[in-house]
Amino acid sequence: MTANGTLRNTTKDTLREVLTRLQTEGAALGHFNVADHVLLKAVIAAASETRLPVFVGASEGEREFFGARQLAALVKSLRQESDVPVFLNADHTHSLAKAVEAANAGFDSVGVDFSALPFEQNVARTKETVQAIKAINPAILAEGEIGDIGTGSEIHESAQADFSKLTTPEEARQFVEATGIDILAPSVGNRHGMLKSMVEGKAKKHLDLERIAQIKRAAAVFLTLHGGSGTDDEHFSKAIGSGINIIHINTELRVAWRESLAASLARDSNEVVPYKILRPVVDSVKQVVSARLRLFHGESVRPSAVGTVA
Ligand SMILES: [Zn+2]
Repeated sequence: MTANGTLRNTTKDTLREVLTRLQTEGAALGHFNVADHVLLKAVIAAASETRLPVFVGASEGEREFFGARQLAALVKSLRQESDVPVFLNADHTHSLAKAVEAANAGFDSVGVDFSALPFEQNVARTKETVQAIKAINPAILAEGEIGDIGTGSEIHESAQADFSKLTTPEEARQFVEATGIDILAPSVGNRHGMLKSMVEGKAKKHLDLERIAQIKRAAAVFLTLHGGSGTDDEHFSKAIGSGINIIHINTELRVAWRESLAASLARDSNEVVPYKILRPVVDSVKQVVSARLRLFHGESVRPSAVGTVA
């Protein structure tokens, strides 16, 4: 497992190098979405606290709110002061134009997502996009998606669709060979968002671990797990052992962000100083990120005793 500090002072490492190293260590890179500076500060603070690398992600909606170039500039600035690797992903990119924008802005990877299209169209659009972004930056990593993992990192009242569109090893192999992607996002029981029962801690997501192992053997590329929020801890650990290299956590951060913001605002109705209101929010989200990072690196997870949020 990753010993604390083995990745220190390696910020010149590329994303590919870090993913390769973590794979040999039996660990996965934590991917955390940010929509504002509070979330970004929390993710970077968690990386610093745990001394583990992080993957900062922003979907099209998050990039639109933050500004793709502005986010890239901020991450670049934070990376220069970080002694653990920090990478930036353009999560769920649904057009060639948005992928090109992210590549030009300096993102380390682009999550190309045409998974809503029929397989052949998904292959064609993904291949075209991969070629375009690698022409801009040959070192950029391209992710492609197949299968249905739902939309929206939100709280859902009840389960949406069934899991009939799980990725098969054969289509994974065909998709990787036809598109030239570096990272594959399969559908293996994972799902975007969380059910109310998951937020309340009464239910957990479970993954098709055997399918992950079969897809890994067939596709022979890095595998990324979307919709990780609310997944059973043991399944995360086993999924990493089966071949998952990157794990996405978004909804858990959003829940912590909202709950801690509400608590902070309620504490003193006369408080109007933004950084006094927002500081506990950063701490609260940081605790979620740190706990997930430790789990993804095989460290035993214990309740944090350093929290400052009520
Ligand atoms: Zn996702």
